[in-house]
Amino acid sequence: MMRSSFARSLMAIAAVLLVIREDSAAARRPRPRPQIPPPIITAATRLLVVAPHPDDEVLAAGGLMQQVRAAGGRVRVVYLTDGDGFADGVKLENRDGKASAKDFRGYGRRRQKEARVALAALGLGEDAATFLSFPDQGLCRLIRTYWSERRHPYKSPYTRRDRPPMNETFVTDTEYRGEDLTQELAKLIGDYRPTLILVPRREDQHPDHCAAWFFLADALGDVRRVLPDYSSDVLNYIVHFKDWPFEDERSAMPPPPGLSGGASGWIQVPLSPAEMKVKRAALTKYKTQQHAMKWFLDGFVRTNEIFSRPASVHVVLPLKHSPCC
Ligand SMILES: [Zn+2]
Repeated sequence: MMRSSFARSLMAIAAVLLVIREDSAAARRPRPRPQIPPPIITAATRLLVVAPHPDDEVLAAGGLMQQVRAAGGRVRVVYLTDGDGFADGVKLENRDGKASAKDFRGYGRRRQKEARVALAALGLGEDAATFLSFPDQGLCRLIRTYWSERRHPYKSPYTRRDRPPMNETFVTDTEYRGEDLTQELAKLIGDYRPTLILVPRREDQHPDHCAAWFFLADALGDVRRVLPDYSSDVLNYIVHFKDWPFEDERSAMPPPPGLSGGASGWIQVPLSPAEMKVKRAALTKYKTQQHAMKWFLDGFVRTNEIFSRPASVHVVLPLKHSPCC
């Protein structure tokens, strides 16, 4: 009897030790990250996509824009520049391989037209596009150096312009100054009142993309001062970050390696095969960009699109040092 009771006690202790060991092993195992739900899209959704250049909107959100439209919501894209400072692209379109100010201006007009056709391929009408025509490759200089009227406006070394060429701007006498771009965005947001805004993340390595974040956040601050009850969900997207996502052959887009998912964690928006097909078709409308970097555009047609939420949208421009240039 004594031996049997002793054996039972030993077995009980062993069982407890085993449970403890399994518990600590489970604690060491990486826990699966909770899936962050994509934004809820309804007929009441009013989406605004802030695109530094024509094509960024389709690369980042060609699928999500289709989903908003399919739900009966509204979609609008504001292009901060016409993409008219892309020297390699302009030279590719010219037989003599040269590029004058006239050529850069013509290239911008062509990219505007391509954007309208691309949005039509997504099922969007002419009124979905707004072109502010600020200087391509120059936005980061407007955050600090060319902020206010205290100095002359920025002059594009490509188009030789110092103000937008056409009448798509909302504010009269707009020139290439940071405060003018903030005012344009604030006017558009105040009028349209988007419920969801997509804008590049500040860590995007293209200076115009990084700057787009600061101008959007500054403009939202202006809007809230006038419309204190207004609020909008703001999501960030990334287009330029090291080699991401081009050395990845998977059909799903992974988050950029080494970049955290921001305040929310990475938000995955799955695309159906039909949505991917339409997104690819929209990208083919950007003929100049297909010509210059088809491989780059193709890398964004995946089974998902990814976004993150900023920790804060509190920015007051101008900044003492531009974080983007
Ligand atoms: Zn861009």
